[in-house]
Amino acid sequence: MRAFLLALAVCLATALPALSQSSSAAAKNAHGPAQVSSAFHVQGARLRQTLEHLSTFGRNPDGGVTRLGFSAADMAARQYVMGLMRDAGLTVRVDPAGNIFGYRAGTEKLPALLFGSHIDSVPHGGNFDGDVGSLSAIEVIRALNDHKIKTRHPLEVVIWTNEEGFHFRVGVFGSSAAAGTLDSSVLNRRDDQGLTLADWLRKYGQNPADIAKAKIAPGAVAAYVELHIEQGAVLDRAKIPIGVVEGIVGIGWWNCVATGFANHAGTTPMDQRRDALVAASKAVLAVRQAVRAVPGRQVGTVGIMKVEPGAPNIIPGRAEFSVELRDLDAAKVHRIWSDIQKRFAQISKEENVPIECKALDFDEPAKANPLVQQTIRDAARSAGLAYLDMPSGAGHDAQNAARFAPMGMIFVPSRNGISHSPLEFTPWPDVTNGAEVLYRSILLLDQRLNH
Ligand SMILES: [Zn+2]
Repeated sequence: MRAFLLALAVCLATALPALSQSSSAAAKNAHGPAQVSSAFHVQGARLRQTLEHLSTFGRNPDGGVTRLGFSAADMAARQYVMGLMRDAGLTVRVDPAGNIFGYRAGTEKLPALLFGSHIDSVPHGGNFDGDVGSLSAIEVIRALNDHKIKTRHPLEVVIWTNEEGFHFRVGVFGSSAAAGTLDSSVLNRRDDQGLTLADWLRKYGQNPADIAKAKIAPGAVAAYVELHIEQGAVLDRAKIPIGVVEGIVGIGWWNCVATGFANHAGTTPMDQRRDALVAASKAVLAVRQAVRAVPGRQVGTVGIMKVEPGAPNIIPGRAEFSVELRDLDAAKVHRIWSDIQKRFAQISKEENVPIECKALDFDEPAKANPLVQQTIRDAARSAGLAYLDMPSGAGHDAQNAARFAPMGMIFVPSRNGISHSPLEFTPWPDVTNGAEVLYRSILLLDQRLNH
């Protein structure tokens, strides 16, 4: 298999004449991140027109959208997207979790190459998160039709249901069902309209009792690729058009309580206090110090602090706070947590305030597949586009897809790193660049994968 791949890589230029021709033309034309080569296969203007139309579903006066998963706006947008799929010649089906699949036959009996994203949003979200990857996937199909290209693998565009998960507080809902990791008790959760998630699935034309049938068996998909906006500022600052995602970070959550002694703020001398908030404040700084103490791109955050009793004239007796750590390497997260615990023990001694922490949850990191990553790099290079390897600090449907297929993600820049906001913006040439890299990645994977 390895030898086969190597041979393929060497003869790729002859195996893909259309790609190699356009790659040299694109390389000559590449002057900067916003440059779009005329040798591109996808049509940026056509893609933009569909993205602008999609942004009318759930549009807010401020320009962004509120298109929650399982809502009237989402239902209408899904109809529009399914129409685009049919217009591109795809055979559309919806699975029991509401995930939309658009199928294009291949010339050989192989598992499908799956690519897509989501079209639901957070409340007062933007017009690029999820939408870019979803509609670029359909643009890839249109571009293949334009160039009369048939692939060996069947191709399947996917739009996952309720990725943001604001509605029913269940993120990456559709892809969790596909990965077989969804806790089906969420189907009984009720929203403020009095409807359960199961009710909404029925509105989407599905039988909630069939939810387990949405599971995709490992090996049933040849590879999964998702194009997405970065939602951070790394690419925008570096002026690099393409991010090659190394993986989606693992996230650890802990809940900690500093227990001091609540007492009169006027009569208790400073050297006799057991101030829970002073200890917790030192703990916040200790988290930052521990995360910064080792090289790497790991991040750590204290995002919640609840102080009791919470009065200006009472020394805080109790401070409860969260700790969140993220990194691509799960072992590193655990090492940093050990260091934090040592630092907390020292603070407890200094302040005479015990700090106790409880592990709440740990989301394992999802590594991108090395072959898929290399293919995305090659696709970017062939299009004359600079790229940067980077982790994804945010969660995506791709982390679930990694459970049943080799996974890769392509990032495009988010202006000023703003996302989940009406100000979310990716310059249109960057959107086109991402779609073209997706197009080339799919064709290269079709050549490189033999299963
Ligand atoms: Zn997203």
